[in-house]
Amino acid sequence: MKLITKNWGEIDPLNIKAYQNKSGYLALKKVLREMSPTDVIEEIKKSGLQGRGGAGCPVFLKWEAATAEKLQDKYYIVNLDESEPGTFKDRAIVDNNPHLIVEGMTIGAYAIGAKKGIIYINGHYVKQAEILRLVLEQAAEKEFIGKSIMGSAFDFEITVFSGAGAYICGEETALINSLEGKRGEPRLRPPYPAKEGLFGKPTVINNAETVANIPFIINRGAKCFNNIGSQKSPGTKLFCITGSVKNPGVHEAPLGTTPQELIFNSVYGGGLREGKDFLFAQIGGSSGRLINRSKLDYPLVFGDQDLPIGSGAIFVADTLCDIKEHLLSWAGFFHRESCGKCVPCREGTYRLWEIAKRLKNKDLRPRDSENIEDILWVLERSTFCPLGKFAATAWRDALAMFKDKIFK
Ligand code: SF4
Repeated sequence: MKLITKNWGEIDPLNIKAYQNKSGYLALKKVLREMSPTDVIEEIKKSGLQGRGGAGCPVFLKWEAATAEKLQDKYYIVNLDESEPGTFKDRAIVDNNPHLIVEGMTIGAYAIGAKKGIIYINGHYVKQAEILRLVLEQAAEKEFIGKSIMGSAFDFEITVFSGAGAYICGEETALINSLEGKRGEPRLRPPYPAKEGLFGKPTVINNAETVANIPFIINRGAKCFNNIGSQKSPGTKLFCITGSVKNPGVHEAPLGTTPQELIFNSVYGGGLREGKDFLFAQIGGSSGRLINRSKLDYPLVFGDQDLPIGSGAIFVADTLCDIKEHLLSWAGFFHRESCGKCVPCREGTYRLWEIAKRLKNKDLRPRDSENIEDILWVLERSTFCPLGKFAATAWRDALAMFKDKIFK
């Protein structure tokens, strides 16, 4: 079942005509000719579309909240910051079918009444920023964006903004700070961006994969979309499968698919590479949980607190992996990406990284194992934003699964 990756490899992503030949921009045409903004929101509500960035919040909730605001100036932002290690699905959409994002976000903007759109892209995605600027020019020439789109009364302009490549700027209030030229730090909520976002205006921020689903929903109908995937989480998901698998890369699968299928089925990961045995998988990127064989049959859906799907990254480790190397890598990433706003995260991630280095060098101090527990406890309970908790997740699971190996 392919909704987003359907035409990948078959069309020239830089040719707008190739996209149009595959029904491209027909959903936008339908929306502008036949549907009111309320109709569009209702259709997305019925489809059950959830945000694909990680949290899995129903998309219509943000849209309705922004629509309720009376201010005329509204922003519609596509989040293409994508800084979770092992996650490269949004980049792949831009590489293979960028007009899908432009069409999806224009429909979203129509629904909430936004006239200004911004694609916030990770600063390291230089080539993808160029692609987006090029396809935006093409879309403007064909009047799919700009003034009086397709002869309607709807105006919508899109610009591309390259961030500095910070993980925390994927969090929407930090992203807004970054766009306003401030430090990329999260803000206290409420107010939520839908009420008071970019420059104080109502703002909706949706992930790139999320908006790429919108043309399908409009063309084929909410019911069709809702019948795909699981009841709890309709639709498909792009999974980035990496590590010791035969077929690493981006794989689209219905939500509710299990790690067992994603890792071992030849359609997806294809099983472990020759001579390798499965040890664990990490679901959702560096901030995700570790699972052993006993949890491989667990369906991956949004909203599951036991096994959050996160960005959809799945890293597979084999029995030859060095778990201490992974602990060092996770701690190094979070200490580097901590924005520094709150002490528990700024200090905690740094101290954890120091201990990880000592673990790796077999140079542990007497109190280090107790200190790990203290640091994890603090990170899990007292940080300003979820990054602190994320920094503790894999460590907590690794300690539960591999304590002997870690302190050997
Ligand atoms: Fe910044 Fe970390 Fe605190 Fe989040 S938890 S505000 S990333 S220092």
